[in-house]
Amino acid sequence: MNEQDNVGIVDIETLRKLDLIPPLNRMRRGSVAVVECVEEIPCDVCVAACPVHAITKEDINSIPRVDFDKCTGCGSCLLACPGLAIFLVDLSTNNGKGRVTIPYELLPIPIKGERVTLLDRRGEPIGEGKVVKVIKSADKTYAVTIEIEEDKIMEVRFFRVIKNENSLSL
Ligand code: SF4
Ligand code: SF4
Repeated sequence: MNEQDNVGIVDIETLRKLDLIPPLNRMRRGSVAVVECVEEIPCDVCVAACPVHAITKEDINSIPRVDFDKCTGCGSCLLACPGLAIFLVDLSTNNGKGRVTIPYELLPIPIKGERVTLLDRRGEPIGEGKVVKVIKSADKTYAVTIEIEEDKIMEVRFFRVIKNENSLSL
């Protein structure tokens, strides 16, 4: 039994078995979506949100799959997903650093340049990263891109703002 069965955490092994992790050479080319939605639920918001039709589902209940070669890493699916289950990963800098983009709906809203505590899939701290971009959707969801160590690209899935006087508390 994996962690998904036990506590609702989508572990890397599950993603690997389902073939949902983009190949390393695709991550090296630039931002690409990782759709970590492994429950069979009647939702296709991400399919409709993708402007290049890179996400497909066999039927409304099946798990979504990304065509990593079609995906442009635009982030539209990430901002639209009601389950906050979509991330962007990017290893194109080739300098030991990577960028992960995480959907975020908490306060305070981080700002570019700010340091944050990186959290893994279980919510455990695994270091610090730097916010490099913040984009807001039409509703309350933000897409926060954080620079991290390359080897943590599939580990970091949450973060905590290290509070300072510049953080926005809208
Ligand atoms: S990041 Fe953009 S191109 Fe890639 S799957 Fe999501 S919506 Fe489609
Ligand atoms: S929009 Fe989100 S919750 Fe709905 S199918 Fe896509 S990934 Fe899953």
